[in-house]
Amino acid sequence: MSARLVLLGPPGAGKGTQAARLAERLQVPAISTGDIFRANIKGGTELGRTVQEYTSRGALVPDSVTNAMVRDRLAQADAAEGFLLDGYPRNTAQVDELERILADLGHPLDRAVEITADPDVVTQRLLRRAELEGREDDTEDVIRHRLDVYAEQTAPISDVYAQRGLLVQVDGIGDVDEVTERLLAAIDAR
Ligand code: AMP
Repeated sequence: MSARLVLLGPPGAGKGTQAARLAERLQVPAISTGDIFRANIKGGTELGRTVQEYTSRGALVPDSVTNAMVRDRLAQADAAEGFLLDGYPRNTAQVDELERILADLGHPLDRAVEITADPDVVTQRLLRRAELEGREDDTEDVIRHRLDVYAEQTAPISDVYAQRGLLVQVDGIGDVDEVTERLLAAIDAR
């Protein structure tokens, strides 16, 4: 099957790690909106200056900015045969916009894959990552806010994809290799 996929799950569920592994195995680019924003902030671009006030406090970047960026990225040649989106869509308006983008490109989404994880476990993982990586948005207050934003705006999109018959859920607790294999099996099963 083609692999036009979105990866869902709370902050700290291991989406970034698994996205890189799945992309390698499926031979499609992993596209992380958070990574693109961080690269632009680091590079001091205009986009970076626009988004920093949102990312630094764990708020969502306005849809107009995010949607335009994703539309451009998905139109690039390396995404023509498939992609793995990590961190997008993050609210129901973005779900609808992604559908329009893909309709314009002529290929629908194949599947939405959700990595599930206990909120206490993800909070602990994020605090540990804060110590290791020093990400600006990994302080305790900002982590709490990102988890609230997830619960309010992002978690509901699983239901939308479930209603469309596109959702598969995979337990994200366990060994990294094991979770990768679970994800690949879930993506294959149709
Ligand atoms: P992430 O690395 O996916 O946790 O994203 C880091 C930050 O980038 C988020 O807390 C948001 O501020 C911003 N961001 C990433 N993806 C999106 C999105 N799809 N919509 C709005 N903001 C986003």
